Amino acid sequence: MKWGFGKKKLFYNWRLSIKVKKEMINKLLDVMFPRYCLICDVNIYEHEKYMCTLCESEMPLGYYSLKTSNPVERTFWGRCNVESASAYIRYRSDSQYSNLIKSIKYDDGVILAQDLGYLFGNWVKLNGAENHDFDCLVPIPLHKKKLLKRGYNQSEEIAKGISKSLGIPIQDGVLFREKYADSQTHKNRYSRWENTAEQYTFGGISEHLKHLVLVDDVITTGATIEACIREIHKNLDVKVSVLALGFTQ
Ligand SMILES: [Zn+2]
Repeated sequence: MKWGFGKKKLFYNWRLSIKVKKEMINKLLDVMFPRYCLICDVNIYEHEKYMCTLCESEMPLGYYSLKTSNPVERTFWGRCNVESASAYIRYRSDSQYSNLIKSIKYDDGVILAQDLGYLFGNWVKLNGAENHDFDCLVPIPLHKKKLLKRGYNQSEEIAKGISKSLGIPIQDGVLFREKYADSQTHKNRYSRWENTAEQYTFGGISEHLKHLVLVDDVITTGATIEACIREIHKNLDVKVSVLALGFTQ
C-alpha cells in the first residue's frame, strides 16, 4: 500500500516536473526569441499565439451570419448566383488588423491560415451553417507558378481549418487558374474584372456534390469569386456559397 502511494506520488512529481520544465523552456524561448503581436507589435506572452489579449478582444469581426442576407452576400447580387456568403473579419487595408491576412500570404503563414480558418468555421457553425447543406469546400486556386513561388495556397490552408471545424471535405481539381496575373494595381476596375474573368477554368466534380463552398482569403471587389462562380455555373447546375476570412465593406 505504502509502495503504491509512493509510486503514485513519484508519477505525480514526474508529471509536475515535466510541466514545470516546459514552462521554464517556454519562458526561456520567449526571452531568447521574443514574439510580437501581429497587430500592435508589443511583446506577447507564452499563452498568446499571434496577438496580445487586448488586440484579440478588439478584433473587428464582421458578424455576417448565414441566417439572413448580409453585406457579403449582397456584394454578388445581380452579378452571379450566390446561395449564401459570410466573412470573418472586416478588412481595411489601412487597419493594423490587415496584418493578419497579409501575414497569411507573405510570412509563411500556413498555421495562422489554418487557425483562423478553424475559428471562422466554429463561428459559422453557430451562425447559420446548419441552414445549409454544404457538400464540399473549394479553395480559390493559385496559378502553379505562384504556388511554386509561395509554396502553398493560402485559401487551401484556410479551407483546411474550416474543414476541421465544420466537418466538410475539401474538393481538389474543381477550378484551375490558367493565366498568370501580373499585379493589377494600376489597372482600372473594368480591365481588372475582364482580366480576372478569363483566369479560371473548370476542372470537374463528382455528380453527387450539389452545394459547393468557395473559400478565399479576402473579398475586395468580389471579381475573383464572381469569375469562379460564373465558370462553375457555365458547366454545372449546383448551389455555390462563399466563405472568406476578410471582407472589405
Ligand atoms: Zn496587440
